[in-house]
Amino acid sequence: MLNKDTICVLPFMHLSVFQDGKLKPCCISDSFFDENYNDFKNFDELFNNPSYQKLREDLKNGVKNKMCDICWKKEEYGGRSFRQEKNAHFSKQYQELINGSDKKDLVFLDIRFSNQCNFKCRMCSERDSTSWYDEREEWNQKNGIPFNSKKLHILNNDFSKEDLEHLEYVYIAGGEPLYTKKAWDFIETIPHPHNVDLQFQTNLSILNYKDKNIFELTKGFKKVVYSISMDGLFEVGEFGRTNFKTDVFLANLNKLNEVKKEYNNIVYDFTYTSSILNVFSFFETFDYLIDNGYINDYSNIRFQFVRYPDMLDTKNFNVLDKAKKYYERRHTLKGIEHSPFLLGDIENLLIYLENENNTNTKEYLEKLKNYLIFSQNFNNIKIPSTLKQYISLI
Ligand code: SF4
Repeated sequence: MLNKDTICVLPFMHLSVFQDGKLKPCCISDSFFDENYNDFKNFDELFNNPSYQKLREDLKNGVKNKMCDICWKKEEYGGRSFRQEKNAHFSKQYQELINGSDKKDLVFLDIRFSNQCNFKCRMCSERDSTSWYDEREEWNQKNGIPFNSKKLHILNNDFSKEDLEHLEYVYIAGGEPLYTKKAWDFIETIPHPHNVDLQFQTNLSILNYKDKNIFELTKGFKKVVYSISMDGLFEVGEFGRTNFKTDVFLANLNKLNEVKKEYNNIVYDFTYTSSILNVFSFFETFDYLIDNGYINDYSNIRFQFVRYPDMLDTKNFNVLDKAKKYYERRHTLKGIEHSPFLLGDIENLLIYLENENNTNTKEYLEKLKNYLIFSQNFNNIKIPSTLKQYISLI
């Protein structure tokens, strides 16, 4: 009898692969397996490696494996965990597992082929974006931290058509996946695209690959989801994601709205990554898109929050009361009744702050101030007016 309090469908049907070949049980887990994707000779060996087998056994038997702490913690606080979300999403495979099936097919793949990226987002790093190299090197030098990783990561293993036979869902992130050759080579390998939902985590700055438009390249897929990473517009968005240009973004969003009428397999949603830089700009961002006719309502928005680096982690700035007040509006948002996750996502932030709110802000304000000034000077971009308060508090 499987333990329903710990069982998670993901390790039985899923791989989460990072640019350097590191593997996790899923993208939100804090820990990596010891094994590396680039070291495996074939897929079966990879999918049945000893660490995966151990995790599967633990989750079946009620053992709260440390790799999944993020889920245990969220459930303990009363929030909805990724485990619960994915068990519901992959209900067919979940039910088979509960019924004792021993099938282990790759149904859901989450993969980052490279760290090549044209953006340099404040909460990101050189592991995920090649654009970070120079800034990180200078920041580390200034702060006495060793830096030796100007590494371009590109996965060096390829999936065969056979490995992908049972695929139903692929999530491709980066770097920026829409301009990564390896990602497009992989997409061509998928044997039954009409059975597959293809999701890109994209900054929506690029709509062509080489001389082809990406909508044409993916028209054979059952569904193509553009999950647009966007953390604010104008000064907030342009500071938070270096190289983000509001006018380019809005033009591409318009284009996406147009092509949606032509290709009926396209959908899109937004991922708003909140940190102290933009935690109080969420409604202003999406109200602007609604008021100006780019989107209809709040129904396709995901909200997540960063915990690293610590000077961007909202919990370190004693804003619990302010956040509670600001996010009171969440219940009355236009379209919230059609949004399966947004309320829970926001509530996860409030629960996190409730439990971990740090009133000892001096050290973090100092760090934030240094970081903001450094980022402003290095990138020749103005600190948004919404953040000036944190500097003046020092
Ligand atoms: S239990 Fe949570 S952390 Fe572990 S694999 Fe499932 S979703 Fe990921």
